[in-house]
Amino acid sequence: MENCIFCKIVNGELKSWKVYEDEHALAFLDINPVTKFHTVVIPKAHYVNVLDISGELFSHVMNAVKNVVELYKNKLGVENLQLVHNAGHYAQQDVFHLHVHIVPRAVGDGGNLKWPLANPQWRDEFDDMLKKLV
Ligand code: 5GP
Ligand code: ZN
Repeated sequence: MENCIFCKIVNGELKSWKVYEDEHALAFLDINPVTKFHTVVIPKAHYVNVLDISGELFSHVMNAVKNVVELYKNKLGVENLQLVHNAGHYAQQDVFHLHVHIVPRAVGDGGNLKWPLANPQWRDEFDDMLKKLV
């Protein structure tokens, strides 16, 4: 995909700090890390996000995520982490090549992915909401 930053990383046009690679997926350090070893895992082929990829290929990406998590656990002792996938402009996706963030977390790291907003009052609507799914 022309002009896609992550496609350029896949084909070597753009430098990256690779931590993992397999047949279908690649993982490299996020250039603007929230915490040390903040990583993005991507499919080598261009898909926009989870809405755009088959379940089978998405499972390859998630398998790569698991392998990177194991690597960080074994080599770095990472025991706390957050996985994030932003899909769509209004879901804060900035790079439109599918990626899953791995954000290692540790005491006092200053990171914060807590949702500022919760709406417990919507519990009254749950029964009606489920009707939309049938
Ligand atoms: P998004 O907001 O789309 O979920 O995340 C995109 C991520 O890609 C951001 O965390 C951003 O720092 C990272 N990013 C953007 N450009 C580059 C780049 O050229 N190299 C690397 N390694 N990461 C990038
Ligand atoms: Zn791409």
